[in-house]
Amino acid sequence: MTDSSGRSPRATLRAIAGPIVRRTRAWAGLATGASARARARLDGSCAAVLMYHRVLPSARARRLHVEPGMYVTPETFARHLDWLAESFALLSLAEIVEHLESGAGLPRGACALTFDDGWRDNLEYALPALRARGLPATIFAVSDRVGTTGAFWPDEVCRRLAPLGARERTAVLRGVGLPLAPESGEGVEAALLALKALDEAERGDVLEGIRRATKGGAAAFAEERELLDWNELDRLAEQGVSIESHGASHAILTGVSRVRAQEELTRSLAVLRARGHARLGLLAYPSGAFDDTVVELARAAGYRAAFTTQVGLASRGEDGLRQPRVAVHEDISRSRAEFLRFVPGAARAANAAAGDDHADAEAHA
Ligand SMILES: [Zn+2]
Repeated sequence: MTDSSGRSPRATLRAIAGPIVRRTRAWAGLATGASARARARLDGSCAAVLMYHRVLPSARARRLHVEPGMYVTPETFARHLDWLAESFALLSLAEIVEHLESGAGLPRGACALTFDDGWRDNLEYALPALRARGLPATIFAVSDRVGTTGAFWPDEVCRRLAPLGARERTAVLRGVGLPLAPESGEGVEAALLALKALDEAERGDVLEGIRRATKGGAAAFAEERELLDWNELDRLAEQGVSIESHGASHAILTGVSRVRAQEELTRSLAVLRARGHARLGLLAYPSGAFDDTVVELARAAGYRAAFTTQVGLASRGEDGLRQPRVAVHEDISRSRAEFLRFVPGAARAANAAAGDDHADAEAHA
């Protein structure tokens, strides 16, 4: 079976897994000092658009089996803000988009904060830290999921697979016939990558298989509301956080029909605007997945700019609907030096390692 772009699931899997291998090389490259050159690129022509997901105390992240790439602790987030304030110019995403569109120079070290998915912990833990420092941010919300309980399917898969031993997990994955890339192993991350490469119908079948094989595995979290509701989004907006679009249902837009992708993009923007949000018409592609068709659909739906999960700095040279970001998380936060090297360094080193291509960030967005 092929998706709307004509790719087979295996070809799509290779397309996703390849950049992960390159990313590993890119991270290795950071240690060799590529970051000094990278810093120079934040000279007013580019901006680092940082991508966060959740802000959670580590005990809660462990209890919910949140993947390491999906969160920072509140303490780490506060440290990031302090480090960024010392060395970067933190702007709203709107300011960055406007500067890039107009060609007006950006301040040196221009950077913006974004959060994908619309997690409730953004209000609980990120907002107080932002308010205390008077800093702007943008949340990309999934319009159908606002105020709903139950996790996104990748979270559910984590919660079902993470508690299992390696042998049991392998048995489950083989039992459902999930085609894992040979280089990615058989862990939870490999399973998520392989699932993301499937089209929606195929993925639904495999997810059902995983549910059957891990009965009761995620029941403990089913009633916990982890996503922001409309009133909470309004409160965030009143306090300087822009609410923009992350699709209607978080469907992976390269894995659904053209009609469905168009409908997802249009509906999300309309629903958010009906509530007074999405004022700029910004989009973060669900799971970072886009291709030429999706970009054109987004443009036609009225999005002014869109952000990927590819690693890089946003620049005027990029199509405004293919702007890369820098995924930040707990693992690159051990020291100020490490973090400040990572932010521009990740973008530059990843691009260098990937040649013309960009390297993908964490697969989850
Ligand atoms: Zn997402």
